[in-house]
Amino acid sequence: MITPFLDLPPGDTWLLRGGQVPSCLLDHGDRDGLARLDLLVQDGRLAGIGAGIAADVPVLELDGALVWPAFQDVHTHLDKGQIWPRAPNPDGSFGAALAAAGADRSAHWTRDDMEARMEFALRSAYAHGTSAIRTHLDTFGDHRTVVWPLFRAVQARWRGRIALQAVSLCLLDQLAGAAGDAIAAEVAATEGGVLGGLVVHEPGLPERLDRLFALAAAHGLELDLHVDENGVAAGTGLEQVARAALRHRFRGRVLCGHCCSLAVQPPPRRRETIALVAEAGLGVVSLPMCNLYLQDRRVGRTPRWRGVTLLHELVAAGVPVMLASDNTRDPFHAYGDLDMLEVFGHSARIGHLDHPFADWPRAVTATPAGWMGRGGGLAVGDAADLVVFDARSLNELLSRPQADRLVIRGGRATGAVPPRYRELDGLQSGCWT
Ligand SMILES: [Zn+2]
Repeated sequence: MITPFLDLPPGDTWLLRGGQVPSCLLDHGDRDGLARLDLLVQDGRLAGIGAGIAADVPVLELDGALVWPAFQDVHTHLDKGQIWPRAPNPDGSFGAALAAAGADRSAHWTRDDMEARMEFALRSAYAHGTSAIRTHLDTFGDHRTVVWPLFRAVQARWRGRIALQAVSLCLLDQLAGAAGDAIAAEVAATEGGVLGGLVVHEPGLPERLDRLFALAAAHGLELDLHVDENGVAAGTGLEQVARAALRHRFRGRVLCGHCCSLAVQPPPRRRETIALVAEAGLGVVSLPMCNLYLQDRRVGRTPRWRGVTLLHELVAAGVPVMLASDNTRDPFHAYGDLDMLEVFGHSARIGHLDHPFADWPRAVTATPAGWMGRGGGLAVGDAADLVVFDARSLNELLSRPQADRLVIRGGRATGAVPPRYRELDGLQSGCWT
């Protein structure tokens, strides 16, 4: 067990003195850099934020240590996670990932199996300092009637620790007819339920998107889609989602995940697509670790591109851009632990989100929090859900794993540590590799 580098003072009221917060996370201050300030915590909430707070309460001297709000992970796959030992990806390709995950789902995804893996994932995320997660759930055929009730039970159990939302993940043609109505009804019956689907360039896509948007409107649902998760320069999925949102005058939020192929389109098409995305008010979540793993992979050939979408260009056009975990230890991404600091650090390297870091810390905190309809940040009255690092700059922060971070939830140190892998041994059918 790793002991946090600091101990909180006892009691429910205390002052964090001399912490540093990325300025972009505050209502005020410089757009880049860090703001040095004190945080007064009272009964689990932030009761004061500012420089030189005087209060006759126990004090924890931070001496410049970084303070972040709890992380918000807006795109994960909790139902797939941790199956790698029994369902590895033989060549790291997208096609092999689909086949391996599908076979594992058919063979092993009982309620008990999924529940054990979801719990493992949530305990990891909680220990790393995440307070909200949106997960996609494979929603294929009868499996829907197992995974969605399970999700609702897990959501209730984790309330107060990690706020959970779920997205139905299926092919768009599965949304036709009564089957689509049943999926939308299941999602609508779930608190925080979001309608989803896989969007790729294919014949009939506009009509399928019309059905998707009509279903969402009829059930009052937001949308969260996997879009153009490939390197096909002719891909039109993102453009067509934007056109559909405009065509339907859709009022709900539409989040588009991946959007990888945008990066390999010719410049005139890129500009047109990004302008449409901005006009339609879409949000984009990039999954840089998974994209780096899957995209541009061919056996015996070194990858030439990083797989991520046009992060800087989308932000410049005013599109809300978020960063998230995606898959962890499954055939779509062999690694990962739902640690949003790891996501932020890898994303900074992959996407050159540094020099300056500018608003990018918001992409794993404030922006996804707002997108998920949550408050939570660094304002007076917010829950004291904080992560304190033994680092005094973003450079120090990203140069070590920060395994000894102090995670504070509701004004108390969680003391939580990630579960040990060996807890999963009973699920793996002796297929460790
Ligand atoms: Zn995904």
